[in-house]
Amino acid sequence: ATLLVCLLSCKLFLSNETMSGAFKNCGSVLVTGASRGLGLQIVESLATGSISPGKIIATARDPSKAKELQAVAEKYPNIHIITLDVVSQDSIDKAAQQVDVLVQEEGLNCLINNAGINVIANFETVTAEKMLENFHTNSVAPLMVTKAMLPMLKRAAAKGTGMGIHRATIINMTSLLGSVELNWGDHANNFKWYPYRTSKAALNMVSRCMAVDLEAEGILCVALHPGWVRTDMGGPEAPLSTEESISSVLSVIGGLTEKDHGGFLHYTGEPLPW
Ligand code: NDP
Repeated sequence: ATLLVCLLSCKLFLSNETMSGAFKNCGSVLVTGASRGLGLQIVESLATGSISPGKIIATARDPSKAKELQAVAEKYPNIHIITLDVVSQDSIDKAAQQVDVLVQEEGLNCLINNAGINVIANFETVTAEKMLENFHTNSVAPLMVTKAMLPMLKRAAAKGTGMGIHRATIINMTSLLGSVELNWGDHANNFKWYPYRTSKAALNMVSRCMAVDLEAEGILCVALHPGWVRTDMGGPEAPLSTEESISSVLSVIGGLTEKDHGGFLHYTGEPLPW
């Protein structure tokens, strides 16, 4: 329990300067679920940083309802809003076509699979439908979005050497609650959420499988836990603000190298137990 509390509440404060400087060699970033919460904060922090990526592709399933995102995009011309419902293959295919046109020959340097849901259910209340709904959004969709964006990621990867956001990187926003190892003994906690926890454990394996498959292309792939954050999903009790979480998350993403490839990382950058 002590380790879990420490991992959940441990804070790493970094200035916006440090964080955004880490993105100086990154031409383009795509974020799913940018309408609110952590996705919106990623877009905002990248846009307001001193060195902002040339193209910030903010995707949302219904941009007309994403008023805050629209307001930020009006101020920063490098933000491009694209419609993407991650559980619709038709929407994924249409978004991929638009991203292709947007990034052109430079390709896509960083894909952040952030969109997620928490279908809360314990052992008594869980149903097959609840499990499948959570699996579709949290485990299956990041894989399908990545497959659709792969030609653009490969194009970016072909232009560089080494591994990192200067070349091509896939970030899967996972959760510490997806750790099989931590859900035991002293580390087990009260979040007995079958659909969410298993969907994030599955996402971790999707990340690892993609890391194996995409290594030869030079595409770095990691699963990253953003900390417990005050969003609609994280709730008001969470210890971190979106700014605190994302300043650290972006700093970690900006510093990724081949040694992190295939990893499951805490938002402070330390490896987490699978
Ligand atoms: P929120 O509930 O605040 O936001 C979720 C986002 O995902 C929204 O933008 C939502 O869009 C989007 N989304 C959901 N379903 C779809 C879909 N089918 N297509 C496109 N977008 C979709 O969550 P957070 O910002 O807190 O979480 C972001 C990620 O971080 C998630 O993957 C979550 O599991 C993970 N995480 C969060 C933690 C926390 O403490 N907050 C802790 C650990 C992990 P819309 O507005 O249209 O609903």
